[in-house]
Amino acid sequence: MEKGALDCSLHPVDMHAHLPWWARDPGRAGGILVDAWREACIEAGLVIAVEPSIRLFRSNVDERRVYNALGEYMDLVALSRIPMLTNLVYKTRDALEEHVDFLREHTRTTEEVLEAARLHPEIIPVASYNPDLGVDGNISRLRRVLDKIIGVKIFPTLHFIRPNHGSLSKLYRELEGRGKIVIVHTGCDPGVWELPSLCSHARPSLVEDAARRHRDLVFVVAHLGSYSALTPGIFFHEAVKALSRDNVYADTSAVDPYFVRLAVEESGWDKILFGSDYPYVTGTKPADWVREISLLDIPGKAKEAILRGNAARLLRSLGPPAPRL
Ligand SMILES: [Zn+2]
Repeated sequence: MEKGALDCSLHPVDMHAHLPWWARDPGRAGGILVDAWREACIEAGLVIAVEPSIRLFRSNVDERRVYNALGEYMDLVALSRIPMLTNLVYKTRDALEEHVDFLREHTRTTEEVLEAARLHPEIIPVASYNPDLGVDGNISRLRRVLDKIIGVKIFPTLHFIRPNHGSLSKLYRELEGRGKIVIVHTGCDPGVWELPSLCSHARPSLVEDAARRHRDLVFVVAHLGSYSALTPGIFFHEAVKALSRDNVYADTSAVDPYFVRLAVEESGWDKILFGSDYPYVTGTKPADWVREISLLDIPGKAKEAILRGNAARLLRSLGPPAPRL
């Protein structure tokens, strides 16, 4: 394969993508995503709904909490040149309102993802946990759509909840043994969630704990515990440790390829899943991420496993709507 060219013989599977937020119509947003996948020779992929809670954000984050969270990171944040972060230092109140607008703009409901999947068969829907519904409300909604979704995603950052919190156990029990997966955002997240004390719920060790207590449910540690603009690789070693559990996988979405190679060296490649996090990493497309994996200094069979083989094997072990790949 010449450098930079894509090897289309593999037909990768994207295990972590979202609907573009700028196209409000789910069908159109799904079309944009599927076009980006085609350019990367991606055959199918998981599309994850994003349901934050503005009520929870307002009750958890105020100027005082931001000031305390900035602490020793004040200089790093001020110099970061990331507008959403520097505004936290210089215009805190405005920055918090900016966060509310951001959360509103980026919300893509489970129902919208289901609608996109109805129109685009390449899309395999993943529901979002919704803190405003409470655990019982989430369970009743999941029951209604269970045969249409492959699983549910928890965002410990946006949802202000630990993935091993007792209240989530009830939801995990509902999914356990039914061929579903739970994807958990790990590492930091843009905005206030870049501050380590505000992303401490998103630790892979907490996912590992939940996976230990729910052995018949597959957990995916999204972003290999590594996403962080201020301290890249922040929880990487916890992610590698969590992978030692049979029912824990990890995805490569928004992860610096350096950490993907390190994960292969430290934990093997059997449970590492390719993810593009499209369209959330500014300036990148799924084809760029496929290319990054193809160019890694790891064995060819590891690349095949990460880009397709592991996802195909995992999806085959799950119930509908997992396609037979
Ligand atoms: Zn994502």
